[in-house]
Amino acid sequence: MRSYKVALLPGDGIGPEVVGVAAEILAYLAERAGFALEMKEAPIGGAAYDKYGHPLPEHTLALCKESDAVLLGAVGGPKWDTVQPPSLRPEVGALLPLRKELGLYANLRPARLSSALASASSLKAELVQDGLDILVVRELTGGIYFGQPKGRDADGSRAVDTCVYTRFEIERILRVGFETARGRKRKLCSVDKANVLETSRLWREVADQMAPQYPDVELTHMLVDNCAMQLVRDPRQFDVIVTENMFGDILSDEAAMLTGSLGMLPSASLGDRHTQGGTFGLYEPVHGSAPTIAGKNIANPLATLLSAAMLLRYSLGENEAAEALERAVEKALQDGLRTADIAAAHQPTIGTKEMGQAVRERI
Ligand code: ATP
Ligand code: MG
Repeated sequence: MRSYKVALLPGDGIGPEVVGVAAEILAYLAERAGFALEMKEAPIGGAAYDKYGHPLPEHTLALCKESDAVLLGAVGGPKWDTVQPPSLRPEVGALLPLRKELGLYANLRPARLSSALASASSLKAELVQDGLDILVVRELTGGIYFGQPKGRDADGSRAVDTCVYTRFEIERILRVGFETARGRKRKLCSVDKANVLETSRLWREVADQMAPQYPDVELTHMLVDNCAMQLVRDPRQFDVIVTENMFGDILSDEAAMLTGSLGMLPSASLGDRHTQGGTFGLYEPVHGSAPTIAGKNIANPLATLLSAAMLLRYSLGENEAAEALERAVEKALQDGLRTADIAAAHQPTIGTKEMGQAVRERI
């Protein structure tokens, strides 16, 4: 029997509620599809700080490292915003070291909008009436955020950041772009600033060199300023966008906000370790811990459920289960089921647990 280990890190705020729903659905899917799923929970964020004095305890990190995938809720909240030293605050003390320790180099952010939620989008109705489906693949561990030298002159009059990319780093992120495009509409748009930046010229060169390995994928290049404009002008032209760290940071937020549904957006960060079904990864909703709505059973669990679907696909290789889950989410939306954050005025709403139940019934 196929068997996998998944680490659950509920975290803070609405994290435990949405991860709770996702864990139940994952167990249900495993049972139906006939694979064994060992799910173990560990503390992270403010919850871990309160109990163990550190937002990323050793045993939490160890559990992640011995698992095939990690499902994270969210961390942080006003209670821990003033923790001293700042290195023990949830975002800095848990998320950054976790990503680094797990070698997560590829961030996948689908911006998908169901046609059932088209009115939530900030775009003209004709652009989104059939929904939207874009995937932004962002390089996560290189570029100007990490390149050396970096810093200030002694007198503070000059600051330096350096953009560095190696052929190896570019190739491995482009590979994720090509491979994911293969499972979709086979269109890959590589975004750079090759008219100005040397790293971008290397990026473009590597992409062109790899293209013959993927004759079934249509590769195009676009300058980042043009891409930012095209996303707003007509996002339907895109399938997969692959780009470097800073451009991806900006474009993934832009693409996400086109959908207008924060509670619906999943994400995946892939590592460099192979699992039996794919690649090790960390999966989490794009939204944060939303402390003001925590504990009220009103949070939208769909971003976390869609993150769980990505987990099934990329880390476990359970594609059928992933598709079944995504179809069930879509069906629930088409049937008019809404949590408060995605409901139109006067539309009836259901709670977190009830939405989980509704999705489960539709699998
Ligand atoms: P950060 O990204 O730094 O954590 P934040 O804490 O402001 O920023 P969120 O926690 O994502 O961001 O919350 C932003 C707003 O969106 C909040 O008002 C919250 O109520 C709402 N929200 C976020 N996620 C959900 C969700 N899953 N269901 C319903 N509402 C949500
Ligand atoms: Mg937050």
